Amino acid sequence: MQLDLSSATRPAAQQPPMRAVRFDGPGLVPRVDRLPVPRPGEGEALLRVLAAGVCHTELQLLDGTLNPGVWPLTPGHEIVGEVVEGPAELVGQRALVYYSRPCGECEWCLLGHEQVCPNAGPQPGLSTDGGFAEFVRVPIDSLMRLPEGLDPVQAAPLGCAAATAYHALHGVARLQAGETIAVYGVGGVGLPLIELAMLGGARVLAIARSPEKRALARALGAEVIDAGGDPVLEGCRATRGQGVHAVFELVASDESMPAALAMLRRRGRLILVGYGSARLRVNPLELVLRETQLLGSLGNTRAELAEVVRLAAGGALKVPIAGQYALEDVSAVLDALRAGRLAGRGVIVPRSAFRVPRSWSPPLPLGEGRGEGGEAART
Ligand SMILES: [Zn+2]
Ligand SMILES: [Zn+2]
Repeated sequence: MQLDLSSATRPAAQQPPMRAVRFDGPGLVPRVDRLPVPRPGEGEALLRVLAAGVCHTELQLLDGTLNPGVWPLTPGHEIVGEVVEGPAELVGQRALVYYSRPCGECEWCLLGHEQVCPNAGPQPGLSTDGGFAEFVRVPIDSLMRLPEGLDPVQAAPLGCAAATAYHALHGVARLQAGETIAVYGVGGVGLPLIELAMLGGARVLAIARSPEKRALARALGAEVIDAGGDPVLEGCRATRGQGVHAVFELVASDESMPAALAMLRRRGRLILVGYGSARLRVNPLELVLRETQLLGSLGNTRAELAEVVRLAAGGALKVPIAGQYALEDVSAVLDALRAGRLAGRGVIVPRSAFRVPRSWSPPLPLGEGRGEGGEAART
């Protein structure tokens, strides 16, 4: 994939001040553009982006598997930033962004299952402009204070990857200490999933194709299985023929899904977190005879994000970082992610030199200069 820099090659004097990655729609090449710095409306804050994690969902947006219909779009939903404009008491604070925008009033929100809220508002990086930019405008109530001592790059993957892993483990699979689980795919979500499962007292089998990813998983305390070998046989051996209590499917390929099902013990849970174009094909009898449970897992709640932030601040959770990259590196990072060559989370660090002028405060009134929202989409 080649990065189109044509719009960024005009003389500096003619250019608006903010660099941002733009996705123009499915199948189109990402580009870096220069845009005016967004102005926050009422109830919003402007963040200088300190770090933004690269998620597999960006590939779904590029491929059209997820299509919010809002193009061009600045992606990036794992955002850590510093408030540079907004309510005076927030300016200067560092914060993570809870990208989900549940309504807080529907049946699902009231039940505490806000991750499946059908009335979710525009989500930064998914259905409104996000964090692969020098600045991003977000609702104030989406901010979560970054604890002292937690590095922004280290904190970025908490916003989606680690919180998604926490929700899948505890919100959906109801992990019990002493269980043996398999993590199919050791990417951005798989790594914190291994860490959180170990913290929860589980035995973890991590399945990955790349030796680098298996080495990372082993370093986190998992036993590892080569996805290119015979994972079902290896899983069977590792559990003395019993099978595992739960498999977390982060790959969802034609190859991985049947293997994941075959690794389960009776009454085992298959938790589907990842997705792509492959279909899950299964005869109901296979599920009936063993009372296999199929469970989907979507995103996370605000409370779950707060919990992973607490664990990270205390040093119990540290998501491995593959590297820090500039906005201009986004295409290369996404290519590496697609090819399975990123061991750990890739994090974009925009390094903005632009300073928001003091004359910009107070914020513009609600409605002025605001972007369009679209249908909700989540990892
Ligand atoms: Zn994500
Ligand atoms: Zn709701």
